[in-house]
This record gives sequence, C-alpha cells and structure tokens, in this order.
Amino acid sequence: MKESIILLDACQEIIDLKLVAGTWGNVSLRLENGNILITPSGIPYDAIKEEDLVLCDRYGNVVEGNLLPSSELKMHVSIYASRKDVNAIVHTHSLYASIASAIFDEVPLLVEDVAMVIGGRIKVTSYKYPGTQELADEVVKGLGDRMAAIIANHGQVAVCPTMEDALLAAQMCEKAAQMYVIASQYPKVNALPDEDIRSLYDKYVKSYKKLRDLK
Ligand SMILES: [Zn+2]
Repeated sequence: MKESIILLDACQEIIDLKLVAGTWGNVSLRLENGNILITPSGIPYDAIKEEDLVLCDRYGNVVEGNLLPSSELKMHVSIYASRKDVNAIVHTHSLYASIASAIFDEVPLLVEDVAMVIGGRIKVTSYKYPGTQELADEVVKGLGDRMAAIIANHGQVAVCPTMEDALLAAQMCEKAAQMYVIASQYPKVNALPDEDIRSLYDKYVKSYKKLRDLK
C-alpha cells in the first residue's frame, strides 16, 4: 500500500530530523475511505516494518494489524473527526517543544517561515494524562484551525493535508519553540502580529503550495 510507504518514510524522517527519541511519538495518515493508518505502540521507529502498521476505522476500531495501535490513537481519531482539512498527523516529543510545554501558555511566532506553515501562534494545552480522551479533546481545542499545538508537559502535534506538510509543520513548531525559549530570556521580544501571521499563511498556502503541486 502506497500509504504504508509514506508512513514508514515519515518514521525515518522524524528520526533524521531529531524530532524523536526512543519509541515516543506517533504518526498517522487518513486514507481516502476515512480509515486511519497509524504506527504501533512501543516499537522503535527505525524497527517498524510495513506489517507492524495498524489500520483502524475512523472511530479507532482496529481493522487490520498484529500489534496494538499507538497509545495516542484517541488523539488522532479526534483530530481527524474535527478537521476535514487534515490527512496526516505527526506527534513527537521534540526537545524545545517539550521545554516550552512546561513554561508557556502559548508560543508567539517570531519569524515569517514559521508563520507561513503554522498559521497562528502555537497554543499550549492544559495538562491531561497521556492516552486519554481528555488529552485528545484538549489537543483539538489547542489546534483550532492551526497546523500545530504544544501538549502540556508532553510534546507537540503537527497536522496537515499531506505527510510532507505535516513533517514540515513539526519542524517549524520545534523551531518556533526553540526560538521563543531563547528569546523569552530577553526583556523585550517583538513577535509577529496575528493579522500578519494569517496573511503570510494564506499567501503561502495559495502560492507556494500551488507551485509545488504543479511540479
Ligand atoms: Zn506523546
């Protein structure tokens, strides 16, 4: 299945991008029929094979697979149910997003590339226990219509129409968190205004993505 290859490639890429360590984090794709293909629970990313991936229906019931789906399946199910524009989710415990998750209520955006990809300042959810529906609900609320959120005392989640874009959003979320963790130690930080973030995002979605899709 083409989607399995995309998901396995994404597992390798989040290792290469140093967004993940050990078995923590999870990646999923929504298929055309609404089913969800997700990484299994407890297997290191570089050891996951095609037959280890778990296929679930849109409600999270396992349709196919020998292993248990990721323990954050409820979060993936809830995000797909609430966001028709999202077909790929990358959840990692990247370092700076995790640090920001324990310090801030939100991460203002300081530079334009992050604004173009994320589409708004990044909200930090309130703390909820991992794997629960409460955490899933908080993440949906934290995302709103944006492409990333930070999960309190936990990590980050990036969402997009495609896996390529979701991986980019995960990198940009980590960059935004790293920049703000450092910048917030200075007395004055000039964050991008909300209206400019939205305008940069709209412009990026309309022009750059269209150009890329035409290639
Ligand atoms: Zn996690």
